[in-house]
Amino acid sequence: MGSVKPVWRRVSQELEGLRSQGLYRVRRTLEGPQGVNVEVDGRPLINFSSNDYLGLASSPALREAMVEGVQRYGVGSGASHLICGHATPHHALEEALAHFLRRDAVLLFSSGYMANLGIISSLCSRHDTVYQDRLNHASLIDGARLSGARLVRYAHGTSPVIERDRHGLVVTDGVFSMDGDLANLPLLTKSSREGEALLVIDDAHGLGVIGPTGRGILEHWGMSQEDCPLLVGTLGKAFGTFGAFVAGPRDLLDFLVQKSRTYIYTTALPPALAHATLRSLSLIQTEDWRRVYLKRLIHRFRAAASGLGFHLLDSESPIQPIVIGDNGVALAASQQLLERGFLVIPVRPPTVPKGTARLRVTLTAGHTERQVDQLLDALSDLAPGVMA
Ligand SMILES: *Cc1c(COP(=O)(O)O)cnc(C)c1O
Repeated sequence: MGSVKPVWRRVSQELEGLRSQGLYRVRRTLEGPQGVNVEVDGRPLINFSSNDYLGLASSPALREAMVEGVQRYGVGSGASHLICGHATPHHALEEALAHFLRRDAVLLFSSGYMANLGIISSLCSRHDTVYQDRLNHASLIDGARLSGARLVRYAHGTSPVIERDRHGLVVTDGVFSMDGDLANLPLLTKSSREGEALLVIDDAHGLGVIGPTGRGILEHWGMSQEDCPLLVGTLGKAFGTFGAFVAGPRDLLDFLVQKSRTYIYTTALPPALAHATLRSLSLIQTEDWRRVYLKRLIHRFRAAASGLGFHLLDSESPIQPIVIGDNGVALAASQQLLERGFLVIPVRPPTVPKGTARLRVTLTAGHTERQVDQLLDALSDLAPGVMA
């Protein structure tokens, strides 16, 4: 009995370990709305860390739609979708998303994390194999773990060797969340078709942003539901609201309604949020300038940053990480930027592989060119220490 350590003793040891390795995480409290100009500890900062790529989260149009939604539908949904929480705006949003993405149907989930857990764990069991890119989002990995399937992780940007004697699922981020590069869909559709595996794309960071009309990575590669049956999207990023969905063949979605525990056993999104998201979908479809302008900022940033000698990744998305390597150096760089008035969060293991700690710079349609230039100035002042 004496050798059994109480859990809380292990907790304090682990916390100490995280601190000593530069891996301890802290939350910063935003004192106003999400956006480019935020306030933390009473200090105004220019935010280069949010996933609000189109600048919609606090836009007047979405605020107005949210208020309208609350007036019409109240605040809480009151129940799960299968009890009595499924309301008109949920249904309308599912239909509008299906139309936009040219897919048979859409099913809303309460978050992207839950969508991924629910999809993978209901489609796979211990007799199956889930193939995942090494840099996939944690929620996809956790979905495979929960399913009990064999998890095979293939090298980033390649495609898996599929064993045809087991049912297989090939799962990938569309835009990789910490690197910003795009999945090689032609390669993945080919290998999953040949291996008779089902392909699932999680395009959390691509929808609204990538592709001429914002339909994401499938539009970028000119691919349809035939090529890639299941598409996951999240609403908390470019859409500027909250929640997630899966789009695909009606049968598969019907199966998820019956079987997916993270769909069944949780409260439906507030209907007002679905109402507001309908407005953001309409802005994504009508305000092309947000994407066009964002693209220009991305080019501007990349040209200047590589001129400064920073190691940029191969990313055409708004995610433009500056890989530093050492956790402590990344932390110090972020702190120096904070002192200059910029919020750029350091991303460290286990979110990224060991030895690849980075400043994850994200650009949004809400930034001005001047703000991007100011960030580049501040980055160039750190350059010697960071590059060492
Ligand atoms: C953010 C993200 C998720 C999680 O979505 P939430 O709605 O925030 O839970 C899932 N997958 C990827 C690739 C993401 O980047």
